[in-house]
Amino acid sequence: MGRDAVAARLFGFTPDKSALVADEAQALREAVELRINGGTRAGAAARLNALGFVGTLGSTFTGKTVARLFRTPAIAGLKPGPDGKLIDAGHPGAITLEQFAQLQAMDAAEDEKRDASRKANPQPDYDYAFSSTDLVVCGLCGANQQGLRTNAGNPGYCCSAGPRADRPGDCGRVRISAEILEDHLGEEIVARLMEPGTQKALEKARGELEKQLAAARADLETVGQGLDNLGGMVLRHEITAASAAKARQEGAQQQKALRRRIRILERAAATPVSGSVQELVTWWNSAPSQAKAGLAMLMLHRVDVHPGGQGARKLKPGRVVLWWRDRPAPPPIRRVA
Ligand SMILES: [Zn+2]
Repeated sequence: MGRDAVAARLFGFTPDKSALVADEAQALREAVELRINGGTRAGAAARLNALGFVGTLGSTFTGKTVARLFRTPAIAGLKPGPDGKLIDAGHPGAITLEQFAQLQAMDAAEDEKRDASRKANPQPDYDYAFSSTDLVVCGLCGANQQGLRTNAGNPGYCCSAGPRADRPGDCGRVRISAEILEDHLGEEIVARLMEPGTQKALEKARGELEKQLAAARADLETVGQGLDNLGGMVLRHEITAASAAKARQEGAQQQKALRRRIRILERAAATPVSGSVQELVTWWNSAPSQAKAGLAMLMLHRVDVHPGGQGARKLKPGRVVLWWRDRPAPPPIRRVA
C-alpha cells in the first residue's frame, strides 16, 4: 500500500511534529475558530479550501476529513497516555488546549442531539421496493424513479431529475403512487412466474448479472489501487498535491457509482431461482421488498413510468411499460424537451 509506506504528515506540522508549518498552522487555527464560533465542519473545510490548502496527501478538505483532523489530539500538542487520558506529547500545538476541549465538547453535544432525534422519530419511512434499483425510470427523461412522499404525505415514486437544493434539475415531472406501481408490478411478475420456461430464464439472467457483478468489483479494486498510490506519489514528489486532489475527486466519483452498481447487482444475484413455480410465488409473497426488487431485476430490463393520471386509483393503459428480459432490450429514453 503506497499510502502506508510513508506515514502521512499531520496538517500544520513538520513530518516529525517538532515544529509548526506556519501558514498551515495559521489556517488550521482559523478553521478551528470558525467551528468553535458555531460553524459546521463542512464550513471549516470550505474555508481551508478557499485559502488554497489541500490535505497533506493532496485531498480536498471535506467535513469528514476536517472532523478527523479536529479530533486528532496532536493538533493541540497532546497524545493519549497509558490510561487513555490525553497528556502532553512533547511537541508544539497549533491550537490551545482550551480550543481542543471546546471541539470535543461540540462533537459530544452533536452526538447526543443525533441520538435524541433518533429516539424521537423511531418509525421508519415507507419501504420503497424499487427506489434504488435503477429499474423503474421516468418515461420522459430516463432518470431513476425514487421513493418520495407527496406533499400530502403519501408514498410515491418520483423522477429523480427534479430540482433539489444542491442542483437545478430539469425534469422531475413524473410521479406515481407507490402502492399502485408496486401492486401492478407484483401482479405482472407473479403472472410471468407461472409461465413455462421462467426458471431457465431466471437462471440465465442471474448468470449474466453475476458476470457484471464480478466486472464491477474488479473495476472498483482498480480504482481503489489508483487512489492508494496517489498519496505515495505526492510524498515522493512525483505529482503535485493539487493534481492528486483532482485525481482523488474523480476516483471518488467512480467509486461511488461502482459501489451503487455493486449493491444493486448483489441484490439481484442473491435472489433464489431454483424453486418450483409455486415455491417462487410463495417466496415472492413473503419476501422483503428489497429481495423482490432483486427478482424483478432478473425478469425485467426496465420499467418506464409515463405521466398522467395523478391521484387516479387505477392505472391507465400505457402509463407503466414493462420491458421483459426475454424480449429485446428497450431503446434508451430520449429526453423530451
Ligand atoms: Zn424525468
